[in-house]
Amino acid sequence: MALFVMKFGGSSVGDTERMKRVAKRIIEKKEQGHQCVVVVSAMGDTTDDLIDKSRLLNDNPPAREMDMLLTTGEQISVALLSMAIHSFGHQAKSFTGWQAGFRTDDTHSKARIADIDPFRVMDALATGNIVIVAGFQGMSESGEITTLGRGGSDTTAVALAAAIQADVCEIYTDVDGIYSTDPRIVRCARKLQEISYDEMLELAHLGAAVLHPRAVEYAKHNNVCLVVRSSFNHNEGTYVKEEAVMEQGVVVSGIAYDKNVARISILGVADLPGILAKVFGSLAEAEIDVDIIVQSGVLNGEADFSFTTALHDRDRAIHVLEQLKSELPYREVTSETDLVKISIVGAGMVSHPGVAAKMFEVISALGISIKMVSTSEIKVSCVIANQQLHDVVKALHTAYGLDTVEQVFVGGPQDRR
Ligand code: ADP
Ligand code: ASP
Ligand code: MG
Repeated sequence: MALFVMKFGGSSVGDTERMKRVAKRIIEKKEQGHQCVVVVSAMGDTTDDLIDKSRLLNDNPPAREMDMLLTTGEQISVALLSMAIHSFGHQAKSFTGWQAGFRTDDTHSKARIADIDPFRVMDALATGNIVIVAGFQGMSESGEITTLGRGGSDTTAVALAAAIQADVCEIYTDVDGIYSTDPRIVRCARKLQEISYDEMLELAHLGAAVLHPRAVEYAKHNNVCLVVRSSFNHNEGTYVKEEAVMEQGVVVSGIAYDKNVARISILGVADLPGILAKVFGSLAEAEIDVDIIVQSGVLNGEADFSFTTALHDRDRAIHVLEQLKSELPYREVTSETDLVKISIVGAGMVSHPGVAAKMFEVISALGISIKMVSTSEIKVSCVIANQQLHDVVKALHTAYGLDTVEQVFVGGPQDRR
């Protein structure tokens, strides 16, 4: 008998028919003699729909109220899934995140888990229940309801798996594993049998939606056996582990993209010591995450620089810069959206020169200009205009020898994004 954490994402529980199928899948595992703790997301597009609804009433809703609203999505799922399991004659008990013992800090909309006291989960398991926990939510020390960031149910699942020392944490989704790139864009993407925590962490941070970055961090630090598989079939999934066996000669193992990018430029800033510290210190104080920073050459004692932030932080970032104008003279602040950051990732890159150069060649051969570049030991990212995203990802996939003839498996609507 093994202890499984099984996490089902929004698309896997998108309607009541799918909910029934998920219930049967869980029962199948239980009938094999295993213990099951299930984590569920909100049904289908519920979270997006709730966000849209809130904007009809307030275009800048208080973060506390937003968390109060969004956590309802997962609560609907856990109750309905439990009812479905009962209808098939099995015992199940649903819990909110706080009932399951998730304590977080008090940063609304991107709270971090402080600790987990899962005694109610363990008690319910001990009395023979299938336990169902709402993903993405917790409660702060002061009793406020919090959420873990979009896609955060993966993190609930992995953190819970670590806390209850589960044997395996299975992430069930609408594709049957982790691919060399998003299989919705590249139909000849390659399914990976395994991938290292570090490479997956990089891909997740760079936009591969298949796993939430914090979930991978948690899995790495707690050595959780993590597997991504499909809720639509029984295909072998992809294992995320410390040392993944790499195919011979593979330099780039994955390609990710992130459309959640805004570029902000500050033009004509006096080239004085401490300027960058002032700008980025003020942005950090406002809790705005900055990603790529590029400073161009100095002309007549003035410099230009650009940086990227998440789209939803663009207006706040511009506001922070405008507040600085009196102490930090500059000519103009501009911003640009409709961008995408495309990244190639591979542990093998360190020992292979020319990997970045090939990326630039492929992009320029498509007649596309690169607006920003950033590199680390195992990745290269380029920011470009969004329009040709698909062409670039496909061309890079081919150029790095990742194309395969096997068919990808994609469940649910084909045009999800
Ligand atoms: P869930 O609702 O189950 O949490 P998500 O939409 O968050 O599902 O994640 C699954 C999606 O991630 C897939 O449908 C796929 O389009 C996308 N994806 C992006 N990059 C990858 C990749 N490298 N491998 C597999 N899926 C990926
Ligand atoms: N329902 C939340 C979201 O859509 C959390 C999740 O699905 O993981 O972001
Ligand atoms: Mg997800």
